[in-house]
Amino acid sequence: MAGYLSESDFVMVEEGFSTRDLLEELTLGASQATTGKVAAFFVADLGAVVRKHFCFLKCLPRVRPFYAVKCNSSPGVLKVLAELGLGFSCANKAEMELVQRIGVPASKIIYTNPCKQIVQIKYAAKHGIRLLSFDNEMELAKVVKSHPSAKMVLSIATDDSHSLSRLSLKFGASLKSCRHLLENAKRSHMEVVGVSFHIGSGCPDPQAYAQSIADARLVFEMGTELGHRMHILDLGGGFPGMEGDKVRFEEIASVINSALDLYFPEGCGVDILAELGRYYVTSAFTVAVSIVAKKEVLLDQPGREEENGSAPKTIVYHLDEGVYGIFNSVLFDDICPTPTLQKKSSTEQPLYSSSLWGPAADGCDCVAEGLWLPQLHVGDWLVFDNMGAYTVGTGSLLGGTQACRITYAMSRMAWEALRGQLLPAEQDEDAEGVCKPLSCGWEITDTLCVGPVFTPASIM
Ligand code: PLP
Repeated sequence: MAGYLSESDFVMVEEGFSTRDLLEELTLGASQATTGKVAAFFVADLGAVVRKHFCFLKCLPRVRPFYAVKCNSSPGVLKVLAELGLGFSCANKAEMELVQRIGVPASKIIYTNPCKQIVQIKYAAKHGIRLLSFDNEMELAKVVKSHPSAKMVLSIATDDSHSLSRLSLKFGASLKSCRHLLENAKRSHMEVVGVSFHIGSGCPDPQAYAQSIADARLVFEMGTELGHRMHILDLGGGFPGMEGDKVRFEEIASVINSALDLYFPEGCGVDILAELGRYYVTSAFTVAVSIVAKKEVLLDQPGREEENGSAPKTIVYHLDEGVYGIFNSVLFDDICPTPTLQKKSSTEQPLYSSSLWGPAADGCDCVAEGLWLPQLHVGDWLVFDNMGAYTVGTGSLLGGTQACRITYAMSRMAWEALRGQLLPAEQDEDAEGVCKPLSCGWEITDTLCVGPVFTPASIM
C-alpha cells in the first residue's frame, strides 16, 4: 500500500451488509436530526471504483490510466485512485494543488487544459509539473515564456459530432494546422512529445476512437519528421460510466486495442495514456435527496376524470438540489435521473403523475417529469443511483447549492483486493470473463421513472 487511503477514510462494509443498509441508516439519522435542515447527501462505494480499475486493466492492458479530476474531486475518490497507482489529469491550479496535497508526485500529474492562465502555467513550472497540452500558437508562446522546460502534448480535434457532450467545438487543433504548430514549437525550442484527443462524452460510436488513433499516427509522423521525440499518445476520456450506456466499455476497448495494434503496435516505444472521468466514478455514487415541499396541480383537461371520479391532477415535488447543482446531467447529458424510493411502497398504492423540481427560482430547474409515484410527503427521501460524475465539486461552479456530505464505504473484499492489488477475476474467472463484483451491493428497489431504467453498480 502506498498509504494514500486508510481504513479511517471509509466505512468498512462487512459481508452480508450493503451500502444500501448504510444509506438507510443515514437517512433515518438525518430525518431524526433536530437541526431542522435536512440536506441531500451521497454514499460512495469505493469498491465500485476499485472494480472499475481492475476491469480497465483487464480490457486495456497497454493503456496507463489517468483520472480527470474535474469529474469528481472528492477526497475519497482521489485517494483510492492514487492508491491504485493512477496518474491525474488536471485542468487548473486548484486541481493540481488538490492532488499534490494528498501526496501525488508531480511526475504523475498532467496539465491538460489547452487554454491556460499564465499564473497557472507558472504554478506548474514551480511545482515540477512538466507535461502540458496545447492546441494553438498563442498557448505555445505562453508556455515557451513561462515554462520553457515543459514537454508539450498536441491536442487534436476529433469528429465528435455524434457525442452527447462535444469537446472539439472548443478544444483541439485541426489536422491541417498540426504541421505549422509542430514547426513553430521546433523554432521555439519547445519539445513536443506526443498527441492527445478527446472524443467527447456519450459517444455512441467506438470507431471514433479508431479514427482519432489513426489521425494521431499522422501527427506522430509529422512530429518525428520535424525532429520531435514523439512518445506519448493520450486517448482522453469519454468512456461510459454505467451499465445502461449505449456502448459497453468492453466494446470500446476492443476497437481501441485493434487500432493500437495497427497504428501503435506493441514495442513501438509509445507510452499510451487515457484520461478517464465518468468511467471510474459514475456508478459508485448514490445520492439521497429529501422532499422539501409539494403541491397538487389540477390538470385542465375537460371530460377527463381519474378512476375515482375526481379531476386529473399532477403532483409537483420540490427538492433542495436541482439542475444547477448535482442534477446538472439533465442539462448537459440529456439524462432523466431515476429515483428509487427509500420507503418501500406496496404494489396496491395508487400512482400519480409527478414531477421533481430543484430550488432555483426559475422554470428551467426541472429534475424529472413524467414520473408515476405513490403519494409522497415532505421529508420523504428519494434515492438516485449513478450520480458520481460531474456532481461533486461542480455544484459550486454552476451556481448550485452548498457541497453535499459524502460518506465513503467499501466492502472488505474490495479493501483486501486493493491492498494486494489483486485482480479477483484472475483467480476465478466467471462465465463471461469479467471481474467479480467488489462493490458492496444492493438489490434494486422500486424504480419509478418511466424513462430508461439503470442497473445499480452492485449487480453489474
Ligand atoms: N480529459 C479532458 C481534457 C476533459 O476535458 C475531460 C472531460 O471534460 C475528460 C478527460 C474526462 O472525460 P470523461 O468524464 O468523459 O471521461
